[in-house]
Amino acid sequence: MKVCVLPGDGIGPEIVGQAVRVIEALRRDGIKLEMETALLGGCAVDAAGEPYPEATRKLARAADAVLLGAVGGPQYDTLPREQRPERGLLGIRKDLGLFANLRPAVLYPELANASSLKPEVVAGLDILIVRELTGDIYFGEPRGIEMRNGANGKERVGINTMIYSESEIRRIARVAFEAARKRNRRLCSVDKMNVLECTQLWRDVVTDEAKHYPDVELSHMLVDNAAMQLVRNPKQFDVMVTGNMFGDILSDEASMLTGSIGMLPSASLDEKGKGLYEPIHGSAPDIAGKGVANPLATILSAAMMLRYTFGLEAAAARIEGAVKKVLAQGLRTGDIFEPGTQKVGTREMGDAVIAAL
Ligand code: NAD
Repeated sequence: MKVCVLPGDGIGPEIVGQAVRVIEALRRDGIKLEMETALLGGCAVDAAGEPYPEATRKLARAADAVLLGAVGGPQYDTLPREQRPERGLLGIRKDLGLFANLRPAVLYPELANASSLKPEVVAGLDILIVRELTGDIYFGEPRGIEMRNGANGKERVGINTMIYSESEIRRIARVAFEAARKRNRRLCSVDKMNVLECTQLWRDVVTDEAKHYPDVELSHMLVDNAAMQLVRNPKQFDVMVTGNMFGDILSDEASMLTGSIGMLPSASLDEKGKGLYEPIHGSAPDIAGKGVANPLATILSAAMMLRYTFGLEAAAARIEGAVKKVLAQGLRTGDIFEPGTQKVGTREMGDAVIAAL
């Protein structure tokens, strides 16, 4: 079980450092993960002149999973586009064929006040959004801005193409059904079939795929209603599956229901279950190097890695249980601090999770 560790920039090395300590603590209990570290993002540009260097590519391809911190920082914003840290991120996602993005939005009861919604609407929220990541209108051809003849003579038109093949829909549906099986066995597929033929196909194929998963209850919802239901009554959902563009929007909406960006992990998977695991937040340059960043999103990303790539459900649940325990003990990093709780730094939070394990 090989893990390629990419700390990245900003707070990346601090938070990944704590996740690595948690994995090492599990290693003493017989979970033998091999970890090797490489450069991605701004630190790779500094050292090797490009954001996704060959040495990193080799290691990432050979590994079973990749654990990533975050990339980017203001010092890189003026570089030519191909040298920007974000190019490293897009590069590795494409290189590894990661087509399924899994974003849980979990709100621990202790953090219910962090949400902008009423605590009773969100306390105990636990949903998973499965977003298709390599198709849809973001990649469809033809695309571009061109001159065309219209009623008012020649003018510019902007064009993008929403396109999904049956096989692309089927493979993301399978990931979502499998994920639902690991949870409460309810899957809501989100589309816009009343207007878009592409998503009529989406609905037909997801419905057809459901025959292989009789133990999972499938429902369908139009995307406009889904956006509304996520703020009206988000706890009605277990797993949601949708295309790239709808998923982009709905997963951000869902994550903000929790109000705590430092708590949310994510996974991006390929066809064989290899995955890249990372917190949803960025490199937080404003607090980098201060030892105050919240490492829990990265630690929870490591838990997702154990569950989805290595099939180690019990170990994953143990990490998640340990995180719940430290929150119940009242420990908080600055981003989730409230009066009456105890403020701790990045390393102390890691210590507490390891003690709770
Ligand atoms: P950000 O997520 O880095 O930070 C937003 C705010 O949240 C900041 O105030 C930050 O201090 C806080 N924050 C984020 N993570 C935290 C944590 N773990 N603990 C405590 N506080 C935390 O977003 P941004 O400021 O828009 O972007 C900063 C840099 O990160 C940019 O260069 C951007 O391109 C990059 N970025 C990278 C990724 C990625 O690597 N996947 C994602 C988003 C942004």
